[in-house]
Amino acid sequence: MQSLGTRRVNHQNDAVAVAVAGAASPLPLYRSAPPLEVRLEDFEAFAVDRLRVLKAISDGLSRGKKPEEMKNLVDELLKTHMSHPKPPEAVNKDVISHFVLRLVYCRTEDLRKWFLSMETTLFRYRFKRESEEAQRALMADFNLPYKAVNTAEFESVKDKLGQVARSIGQSLPTADAIFYKVPFEDVPELVAGRRVYIHRGNAYVAMNQVVSLVVTQFRSFLSKALILTNRKWTSSIKEQEKDRLTPIVEVLSTSYLGPDYSQPRESAEISLKDIDHLAKSSFPLCMRHLYDKLKEDHHLKHGGRMQLGLFLKGVGLKLDDALAFWRAEFSQKVGAERFEKEYAYNIRHNYGREGKRTDYTPFSCQKVISSTPGVGDHHGCPFRHFSEENLRAALGGMGVGNRGMDDIIDKVRNRHYQVACTLTFEAVHGSSCDAGINHPNQYFIDSQKILQSKLISSSYNARPSRMLKTIISLANISICKPAHHVKQ
Ligand code: SF4
Repeated sequence: MQSLGTRRVNHQNDAVAVAVAGAASPLPLYRSAPPLEVRLEDFEAFAVDRLRVLKAISDGLSRGKKPEEMKNLVDELLKTHMSHPKPPEAVNKDVISHFVLRLVYCRTEDLRKWFLSMETTLFRYRFKRESEEAQRALMADFNLPYKAVNTAEFESVKDKLGQVARSIGQSLPTADAIFYKVPFEDVPELVAGRRVYIHRGNAYVAMNQVVSLVVTQFRSFLSKALILTNRKWTSSIKEQEKDRLTPIVEVLSTSYLGPDYSQPRESAEISLKDIDHLAKSSFPLCMRHLYDKLKEDHHLKHGGRMQLGLFLKGVGLKLDDALAFWRAEFSQKVGAERFEKEYAYNIRHNYGREGKRTDYTPFSCQKVISSTPGVGDHHGCPFRHFSEENLRAALGGMGVGNRGMDDIIDKVRNRHYQVACTLTFEAVHGSSCDAGINHPNQYFIDSQKILQSKLISSSYNARPSRMLKTIISLANISICKPAHHVKQ
């Protein structure tokens, strides 16, 4: 992406930054974009931080985390990515990042749907963290037309409210409890969960349930706002900002936010003779499938060569070994001469030794999942691109049992491909992977860590001489003979 230096996104004046920062509620409603002045670095960095929060929420939801776990997750995410030692700065970051992502995620229906759902979830958990007083202030900000039930009416329905409270395990309402009377269609989730008393078309909503009312309003407002933003984006902003904001906006929705795997980690290196064994033990399904197809057909089309080749580079296969690896397979199909003429260049190119000399980066899950393999292609993500039957067979080949298989297929049906891959990792390794799988090279590294720690612990239980040998080979160190073995 083009470097944006320290130029600023030009808004009307600085003073408004103070006005936003001084907003009464710590939870903004994002009604209109503040006329703030934003540095271009912040424009992108703030959006990336918010995206980390939203993506982790999406991951938590698709992994089926319970409300209490989600609450803790959101607290942790906000602390890690959105806090600032100066509270006014945190508010500004919150507002700016929301509006940048609104631009990013307004552009297609799928993007809008995802953003709307994640922002609404974030808002829900943040609203619940607020004090009752702040919650009432937020309700007032929304101009909700609902009135609190007066004492006489409360007394007339008190018994019914008590019955509902008992049925959902809550304490009985006291005389000073606040209830709102709202049309029942405004609180569909409370009605569906039988969590409110309904009388003559109205639901009696307790103060600790008003989050449902507010979230409905928030969702509906944001949904309309995204459509309007999309119109503005297509009619003017995209063109006006084509040299400055548009490239950032277009890249953000597909950007990979995890670590960089373009270089092997911690001087890890793999050699030709290790690949076969590593493919079985530590390659994610996408790479294992490519590897198996290469061995079977002695050929892969361009997409497959790129996906597997860059992955192998990222896990530590040096250029000479990479050339030898591809040559050994391709020459069986096309002959050694044609390999040198037509294919070796691309391999050197991936390592930055030809053409623009760019050091190419291994593909993230997002990139692999969004690829579109054609007929005869084997690249892509099996969780997204395989038929269910083929996927079941492939998972069986990795040793995933029936119970684990059903959970994985369930995630795939709901289009949670990375979560399905995470569950596969956990089933294959018998170990949890709380961070989730975001990159094929991360899968490899995490797998190796687990396998090596298992090897070390099993070596401790083995005979001392074998234990020593294993640890030495893992640590790749040489050792002197004990002094009494040395001839004088
Ligand atoms: S989720 Fe990622 S690592 Fe797993 S198979 Fe798909 S692309 Fe590969």
